[in-house]
Amino acid sequence: MSDNHLIEEQARRPIRRSLWRGLLKRCPNCGAGRIFERYLKPTRCCSNCGEALGHIRTDDFAPWLTILVLGHILVPVVGTIDYYLTPPLWIILLSVVVIGTMLALALLPHAKGLCFGLMWALRMRGDEQH
Ligand SMILES: [Zn+2]
Repeated sequence: MSDNHLIEEQARRPIRRSLWRGLLKRCPNCGAGRIFERYLKPTRCCSNCGEALGHIRTDDFAPWLTILVLGHILVPVVGTIDYYLTPPLWIILLSVVVIGTMLALALLPHAKGLCFGLMWALRMRGDEQH
């Protein structure tokens, strides 16, 4: 495979565009079709362009990314609330559990879509052995 061919292939699947479309839970190829047929269940192929998507497995990357983002949101907010308002500990814990769960459920599909877009752009399937 020549260098020009590799560059053309990379240009056909630009990473930044694929990440953005994945974040919006859209097909990384056309940007119109949905990548999930249910909450986190990927569709077998795009309903708009027919691109095969069902073979891509993101595994634990999306939950890991969700936890990373949530930690950077929740910890400063809880620290600030605790510092200025000093509510009882049970209110802080209850708020963290409820708000954290709601945010995690809201962020997880977008994180998975982001992983999906990246893996599609890099032609990864999620079952690589190296
Ligand atoms: Zn598509």
